[in-house]
Amino acid sequence: MQRAPAHTDAQVVRTILRWYARHGRRLPWRGIGDPYRILIAEIMLHQTQVNRVLLLYPVFLRRFPTLSSLAGAPQSAVVIAWRGLGYNNRAVRLHKLAGMLVRDFEGALPEQINELERLPGIGKYSAHALAVSVHRRDLPVVDVNIKRVLSRLFWRMPTTADLRPEKEIWQRAEALVPRGRGYPWMQAVMDLGATVCTARTPACPGCPVEQFCASVRTIVRVRPPRITKESLMAGEPNRIYRGRIIETLRSSKGHSGICAVTLGKTIYPRFSHRNEPWLRRLLAGLEKDGLIRTNNPPSFRHCVVRLA
Ligand code: SF4
Repeated sequence: MQRAPAHTDAQVVRTILRWYARHGRRLPWRGIGDPYRILIAEIMLHQTQVNRVLLLYPVFLRRFPTLSSLAGAPQSAVVIAWRGLGYNNRAVRLHKLAGMLVRDFEGALPEQINELERLPGIGKYSAHALAVSVHRRDLPVVDVNIKRVLSRLFWRMPTTADLRPEKEIWQRAEALVPRGRGYPWMQAVMDLGATVCTARTPACPGCPVEQFCASVRTIVRVRPPRITKESLMAGEPNRIYRGRIIETLRSSKGHSGICAVTLGKTIYPRFSHRNEPWLRRLLAGLEKDGLIRTNNPPSFRHCVVRLA
């Protein structure tokens, strides 16, 4: 697969940074120095759309304005405040992470990647993004947008569904980071991927790096294949039912608990005793993830569920 010549790297970087200076998105977690606010945005943005985070970020920060207020709150309060953001496991991990930062790091976010990666819910991407955003380190960052932009820009990608392997993209990203400008560079490539070089419909005419792009004239727009490995129930992924369980417990404030059978009927109106093994599995998974507690009775009919 063809790659653009390496000598264009500096030009590519300069061009994207110039474009970002004029067209970058103004987002409330950008250009700030508060590590706590940056951390909250980072965790939220990992699996939630920017528009939704824009709505819910200030609400969450009003509820938990500081790291210590978050660390000192009951976990169930954090899960309740996570309403609308989805993937509720993140609320549990964020709460653990806040506790760990307060307990083991005097409330500061570590600077080293290996330390960051040991924190709950922080993988390679988040560790690098936090080191860049909080400590302004010049490090490569590869998220889904950056992976897409770099794949298309530096290799001739046959279709919009194709991407280069993760390892190659990290190497490319590392070679590109401009010294002293790692922070705006990360934001710039993310924005290019989010607003111009989008997943399905890259806006090549008018793209700031059109003249450097290896895929510009050849990339074919296709619908990405639907790959779902998730178990389904009545055509819906179990992830949806897990979310409904947490939402139902949130609405009941999570303290008094709800009978498992009532919960089953709330999340799936056709629930009957035949669906009990399915609901048991969902509850066991949520309990293992630390999101709920049950009273573990011998009979499922007497099972009561509450937020952990
Ligand atoms: Fe993406 Fe098209 Fe720009 Fe290349 S020219 S980076 S494919 S939008």
